[in-house]
Amino acid sequence: MNKSLIIKILLNKNLDQQIGIAFFNHQKAGVNWREKILSIHPDLKIAVIKDSKKQKKLIENYVEKYYQYNLKKLRKTNKEIEQQWKKIESDFFELVKKYFNNHPWPKGEYKGYLSIFNINPRFLHNKTFQIYYQSRSTNKIIAHELLHFLFYDFLKNNFSFSNLFDKNYIWSLSEVFNDLILSESNFIDLLGKSSSQGYPRLIPLKEKLTDRWNQSKNIKKFLTHSLKIYKHKGGV
Ligand SMILES: [Zn+2]
Repeated sequence: MNKSLIIKILLNKNLDQQIGIAFFNHQKAGVNWREKILSIHPDLKIAVIKDSKKQKKLIENYVEKYYQYNLKKLRKTNKEIEQQWKKIESDFFELVKKYFNNHPWPKGEYKGYLSIFNINPRFLHNKTFQIYYQSRSTNKIIAHELLHFLFYDFLKNNFSFSNLFDKNYIWSLSEVFNDLILSESNFIDLLGKSSSQGYPRLIPLKEKLTDRWNQSKNIKKFLTHSLKIYKHKGGV
């Protein structure tokens, strides 16, 4: 197993512009991304308009200027985030193994891009993700996003039929799974306690799966059960 998965932490202004634009009009599982964006960047209220072309331009310019004015700080934070992660990464990879039956990390060039937005999306196809640069728990964000890559790879390799399932259900499972595993005491010791409450609409699913997780603390058993209950609901 590749013990030392290298995760590069980088700046990517263009991606931040795209993400800002994409999430400005997006809601998911009870999270209003626009509100989250505006709570950190109230000046973006000027982009709350109907004209989507104009809106796009306003967000692009805002991000452009933000990077211009804060470039030094962004670069400095980039280094700090990378150093902080380096301190715990080997412990993290070691810890993950037993929950995932030693499943190897999928190959790829893992890159975490700093973001001025607290959205933290991940892109499964190229192993990249964003990290809100002012977060006080960037290690936790990195761990969370990396777990998604391993989760989906495990699923594909062990439950090939899972591609027949509703993508949104699988997405919900991956979020609930992350909540559960990162609430394990050894992960809390390493990464700290969760400060965010996750997706409000996923709470009932999490409650339904918590006991099973506590019995096994193993991804294979967790997925076997989670996929079974969905089938019984007539989902597939
Ligand atoms: Zn997630």
